[in-house]
Amino acid sequence: MHGKATPAATYTPRMLTARRSKNGGGVELNIRRSKHHHLFSVVAMTTKHYKGGCICGSIQFWVTGAPGKPHTCSCESCRNHTGSLTLTWVKFHVQCVAWVGPGGKPLTWRSSLYSSRSFCSSYGSTIGAIDVEPTVAIATGALDKPHLKEFAPRYHSYVSRRPRWWHVQSDNESRAKK
Ligand SMILES: [Zn+2]
Repeated sequence: MHGKATPAATYTPRMLTARRSKNGGGVELNIRRSKHHHLFSVVAMTTKHYKGGCICGSIQFWVTGAPGKPHTCSCESCRNHTGSLTLTWVKFHVQCVAWVGPGGKPLTWRSSLYSSRSFCSSYGSTIGAIDVEPTVAIATGALDKPHLKEFAPRYHSYVSRRPRWWHVQSDNESRAKK
């Protein structure tokens, strides 16, 4: 290949336009061709962004890129971390996560050799986990739009640890299907 690749940092905010993706999903940022387009070897790039945060607003985050390994887990750690019967997760590379709220990064508690659970330092909301490998797991419920299809769990870890009675479909869900 000839020519120099232009670093992304040279894109100016005026060249970025945000719009909702067609599936009602995250915001897509599109790089528009500018009058200086001759400076750029890439004229269009689309990256998905997702927002989320804790109940009090101290921890807020932006995540970028493809959500990895969407799954739900009912292990004892996940149940104790949340007080819920399962914790639904999705992973992002650590460099794709920006902590943008007034509380900065969440606090962590080392829960295993390879991971630390993360939570809001002010009021304790579950945020997810920060792993030793360069990934950040986000609790799907902490995302602003957890209903997006890319967040749907692909598997259920420790399914045998969930209570046997937990096959409940609520009355209002049943009614909604009729
Ligand atoms: Zn778990």
